[in-house]
Amino acid sequence: MERIKLVLATRNQGKVQELLKMLPKSISLLSLSDINCHEDIPETQDTIEGNALQKALYVKENYGYDCFADDTGLLVDALDGAPGVYSARYAGKEKDNDNNIAKLLKNLEDKDSRKAHFKTAIALVTEKTQQVFEGICEGEITEKPSGVEGFGYDPIFKPENYQLTFSEMKIEAKNKISHRGKALEKLIKFLEGYKV
Ligand code: IMP
Repeated sequence: MERIKLVLATRNQGKVQELLKMLPKSISLLSLSDINCHEDIPETQDTIEGNALQKALYVKENYGYDCFADDTGLLVDALDGAPGVYSARYAGKEKDNDNNIAKLLKNLEDKDSRKAHFKTAIALVTEKTQQVFEGICEGEITEKPSGVEGFGYDPIFKPENYQLTFSEMKIEAKNKISHRGKALEKLIKFLEGYKV
């Protein structure tokens, strides 16, 4: 595969580390700082796919680089798909993981079903193409947080057919079955057949 240079439109270092472990060496990853992009990238759409595309298009249009961006949400069946696209700020403040988890557990107290899934959309915008790749991980919300690995809702999400939460798994094990891992697998497959 020819070496492909791509900007990853995120400032989340946890995410960069997760993706670096999964991406093949044929892809050279640039960060937003590498291209001197220091402003906040707008993320104002009301769908996960829309936000991913908006972020990747912003970088391509303003900086000229081929880019990919991801957006993820946790969708809980008994809450009609909430927190969904608002997962990062479910409890009000941006990325307040503890309070997001507390609010979700409270809202599930009187519900029979705890079924939920994570959904990731990865948008790729290059000179020649615009694509969105989706990954879904089914599972359920536990009664209380458990484990120390990962981020976000990992301590209360138990993937289907596993007895551990994402936070009780090693990052490599999570990546193999996660929403982000699955979406990334599709992106990599696409890039393998892609000529710069
Ligand atoms: P983002 O769009 O990837 O920034 O994700 C939005 C929010 O969803 C994050 O702030 C986290 O709360 C949550 N989230 C995203 N990915 C994961 C994950 O892999 N595990 C747990 N929570 C996640």
